Amino acid sequence: MKSVITGGAGFIGSHLTEYLLDRGDEVVVLDDLSTGRQQNLVTVATNPRLAMVHGSVLDQALVSTTVAGADRVFHLAAAVGVKLIVEEPLTSLRTNIHGTENVLDACVAEGATLLLASTSEIYGKNTADGLSEDADRILGSPLLSRWTYAAAKGIDEAFAHAYGTEYGLDVAIVRLFNTVGPRQTGRYGMVVPNLVGQAQRGEPLTVFGDGLQTRCFSYVGDVVPAMVRLAETPAAYGRAVNLGGAEEVSILTLANRIIQVLGSDSEVRLVPYSEAYADGYEDMRRRVPNNALARELVGFEPSTPLDEIIRQVAGANADGNGNEPMPLAATSDAAVA
Ligand code: UDP
Repeated sequence: MKSVITGGAGFIGSHLTEYLLDRGDEVVVLDDLSTGRQQNLVTVATNPRLAMVHGSVLDQALVSTTVAGADRVFHLAAAVGVKLIVEEPLTSLRTNIHGTENVLDACVAEGATLLLASTSEIYGKNTADGLSEDADRILGSPLLSRWTYAAAKGIDEAFAHAYGTEYGLDVAIVRLFNTVGPRQTGRYGMVVPNLVGQAQRGEPLTVFGDGLQTRCFSYVGDVVPAMVRLAETPAAYGRAVNLGGAEEVSILTLANRIIQVLGSDSEVRLVPYSEAYADGYEDMRRRVPNNALARELVGFEPSTPLDEIIRQVAGANADGNGNEPMPLAATSDAAVA
């Protein structure tokens, strides 16, 4: 089996690369190393079944030569992270829309199946208790940068679905809910690597807003095998499938759990959104997945508890394979919780 992974040097992509190599696949990674890092692939760098192509999904000719001869493609390359999206909306839109079109065209030309990585972000401000795949999307204005990511990924999904309908492309879509684990960088805003890094350095943990917003964090080691199984499940083609964590936790609780699990002396500091992000940011109060479809299709059970996730992320940092902190948009005194 020859698999191409766009974004294979990124956080989730590198775990997927390791997993597929372990299973005996030949893997070609296409990555422009903008947010991905060569170091993420250090454990498999000398594997003879791994090839690395340095370039962008925006390079149509490169995408088509890279996908040539592939049986399947995992399309993970994207501009991700709230901070990056808010600060570079145009680059993000181009990468996330035109890049996906290039990958879809190459898959049709090769007859390769496709797994498209999408996001829970597309549900926007819908705070339902268990978002099903057919839930309504409640998005803010497209003129607010935060929503350009959800807008682009929504278009990606619509494109993928239309390629399936009109060209017969076998494509499964996964909507990832706050996937976390070793190698995720905090630089673009992701909360778990940020707070774990702060706790390890003895700095205050920066909790944005009132900290009562909630998320369901899922462990990369639970998500990656489910992605591969979905790519191999014809019943998943033409559909979008949620993959999220089981435990709903507020960011304030997360911060306190991190301090407790790591035995850190850090305090929690509430930071107003206006100091954390540039204009164009709007937070989501709650985001809870309904994983029933993934359970039914591939037996998905997110089993890694939050405390274990925290330990894994901290361990990777200590090994030097950690993350860089997110620079705040503005710096000033913040309230201590
Ligand atoms: N967040 C925080 N401190 C940080 C980084 C993020 O309190 O240092 C908050 C952020 O405002 C959001 C939550 O943590 O409410 C999750 O943020 P992330 O960017 O990881 O994911 P998303 O907002 O896409 O769910």
